[in-house]
Amino acid sequence: MRAVVTGGAGFLGSHLCDRLIGEGWDVLALDNLVTGVDGNIAHLLKNAKFQMLRADVSQYIDVPGPVDYVLHFASPASPVDYLKMPIPTLKVGALGTHNALGLARAKNAKFFLASTSECYGDPEISPQNEEYWGHVNPIGPRGVYDEAKRFAEAMTMAYHRYHKVDTRIVRIFNTYGPRMRLNDGRALPNFVFQALSGMPLTVYGDGKQTRSFCYVTDLIEGIYRLMMSEEHLPVNIGNPQEITLLGFAERIRKFFDDPPPIVFKPLPQDDPKRRCPDIGRAKRILKWEPRVGLDEGLKLTLAYFQDVFKKN
Ligand code: NAD
Ligand code: UDP
Repeated sequence: MRAVVTGGAGFLGSHLCDRLIGEGWDVLALDNLVTGVDGNIAHLLKNAKFQMLRADVSQYIDVPGPVDYVLHFASPASPVDYLKMPIPTLKVGALGTHNALGLARAKNAKFFLASTSECYGDPEISPQNEEYWGHVNPIGPRGVYDEAKRFAEAMTMAYHRYHKVDTRIVRIFNTYGPRMRLNDGRALPNFVFQALSGMPLTVYGDGKQTRSFCYVTDLIEGIYRLMMSEEHLPVNIGNPQEITLLGFAERIRKFFDDPPPIVFKPLPQDDPKRRCPDIGRAKRILKWEPRVGLDEGLKLTLAYFQDVFKKN
């Protein structure tokens, strides 16, 4: 089996490449390194079954040879990243998805879209199930990411319905773990970087907004099961353990001998107030649920970040 993974040098893409290589696949990662880093896949380059090609998938994608699965993970994912790159984000969600679907169709390969809980926007219901259509501000700053992903889902379903491409869509909820960039601006790397640098943790707003954090190995297991399933409708994968951002900052500071203080900063525009996955569909269809608790996942992630911090 041979897979093409777009965004393969990113946080999630590189863990997915690891998993596929571990399952005996040949893997070609396509990445333009706008937010990914070579270091995430350096260990794989020694493996003859793995190849990495530097390419912008918003441009035409040319891949020689047979392909069995195209997995489209390329896209900035941190709000700080996609606010810095609004047009490349729109392009990779729209044109990149179209190109990746075109590649899958040309090769008669299956297609897998990494979508997001951001499709639900600032949700009016909680937990969010896959039937919910979402509450997105199309012209707000986050719209560049949310609407690109919503378009990507629509395009994927159209290729499935009209071109009969065998597709899957995962809606990923906040995921964390080793290989996140310490400076990517998301809550967890920010808090950890601040704690390691002896700075206060910056909680945005009053910290009552919630997120639900999934450890990366759980997510990859859910993704692999969805790849192998026959489900074409979107499936939420995430950890339903919901926590306020203030609670999350407190959980992280407890890991430090000299716990840093917490300071409050303005809440970014359209920041979702609640986010918690309903994982009923994943449980039913994939027999999947997360196994790694927050403290266990944080411990593993902190060990990684401490190491990165020491080296820099
Ligand atoms: P990441 O920024 O670490 O990885 C994204 C990768 O895509 C990077 O390596 C980047 O260089 C690459 N990329 C971006 N634009 C590209 C282009 N035009 N051509 C080629 N490569 C390009 O982010 P991540 O957290 O690993 O996210 C991966 C995917 O999962 C994204 O599609 C994201 O929307 C989705 N997702 C992630 C989360 C999460 O919590 N991490 C949540 C929801 C959805
Ligand atoms: N956040 C925070 N302090 C930070 C970074 C983020 O309080 O230093 C908050 C942010 O406002 C949001 C939550 O943490 O409510 C998660 O933000 P993140 O950027 O990790 O991802 P999002 O879930 O918003 O896409």
